[in-house]
Amino acid sequence: MKTTTLIVDNNVNTTQAYAQAVEKLLMGEVIAFPTETVYGLGAIATNEQAVAKIFEAKGRPSDNPLIIHFGDAHHILEYVREISDKAYKCMNAFWPGPLTLILHAKPNVLAPNVTAGLHTVGVRIPDHPVALELLTMLGQPVAAPSANRSGKPSPTTALHVEKDLNGRIPLILDGGPTGIGLESTVVDFTIDPPVILRPGGVTASMLRQVVGEVIEPDTLIVDSASVPRSPGMKYAHYAPDASLYLIQPDHMAIENAIKSIHTKQQTVSLLAPDEFMQYHADWFYSFGNQENLEASAHDLYAHLRACDDTPTDIILVTVPVKVGVGAAILNRLEKAADGNWWHS
Ligand code: AMP
Ligand code: MG
Repeated sequence: MKTTTLIVDNNVNTTQAYAQAVEKLLMGEVIAFPTETVYGLGAIATNEQAVAKIFEAKGRPSDNPLIIHFGDAHHILEYVREISDKAYKCMNAFWPGPLTLILHAKPNVLAPNVTAGLHTVGVRIPDHPVALELLTMLGQPVAAPSANRSGKPSPTTALHVEKDLNGRIPLILDGGPTGIGLESTVVDFTIDPPVILRPGGVTASMLRQVVGEVIEPDTLIVDSASVPRSPGMKYAHYAPDASLYLIQPDHMAIENAIKSIHTKQQTVSLLAPDEFMQYHADWFYSFGNQENLEASAHDLYAHLRACDDTPTDIILVTVPVKVGVGAAILNRLEKAADGNWWHS
């Protein structure tokens, strides 16, 4: 299959591009498009065969459900059983935006592979002009996970999508780099108090200001034998090719780690704030100013993917403080590193 990339920004006539994208979706094809979080790979959420193509193109396990994207809130009640007061308040406060709400799904409306057999469904309205234009023109909900091969870091540029899915999907809408750079916050509103299943751009404290108590993942007692609440939780994620280790943003620890790796004749990439540039890692990828967590979130996946273009043996990544969007960054890093910390 030939993959076409069409640029959609203010400098080009986009009518043709959107028309093609809508036509492909109506024909039951999948297409990639930018959102404010990461690039998504979408299909019409009521078309089972189209949705199956998402799983196939990504190599995604079929028990990992998809988030449904809407252009506006009007039709959501056709797909979910009810919207609780708290869910409604959060939609008002954070939509369009990086918040996915898990609600009870109406039976027999969505393609069954969208929810992976669950009775719940994740819904959101993305805050990106291209995604909103596409969804509004289409007038139907679109099921879309991130547009990467399963297990790899999510794509934050159209080039990342091409690298992973070239030849596997017919069309990519290129709307430039995404703004936030991490996936949406996923919150389960089928229980009370609501539970954060995946941290993201909408933080726990932002949610608490709107609905009071919410439960964060670390305060959950996780029984390893039980079925994970969010099926995506059990899969390896966001991983670059080389071995990745977490490290504290500590000068001595980083200097020693790099020396010890070089002593073993290995190469190392360091992802860290600017102040750690001085330690002669073979490749250095900056998170900018240590206080600027938004910049780290924005660049994290692009940096991990850049490491895949080098012959680096080891990747060291400094961990952020766990406040605000730092919780979401740490969550992705722990998965990318499979929980491994550097020990010299
Ligand atoms: P992705 O879009 O690939 O970043 O993944 C979507 C995430 O949302 C995955 O972690 C899914 O497991 C999660 N998710 C989607 N639908 C549901 C649902 N009904 N219940 C719980 N988690 C969900
Ligand atoms: Mg994903």
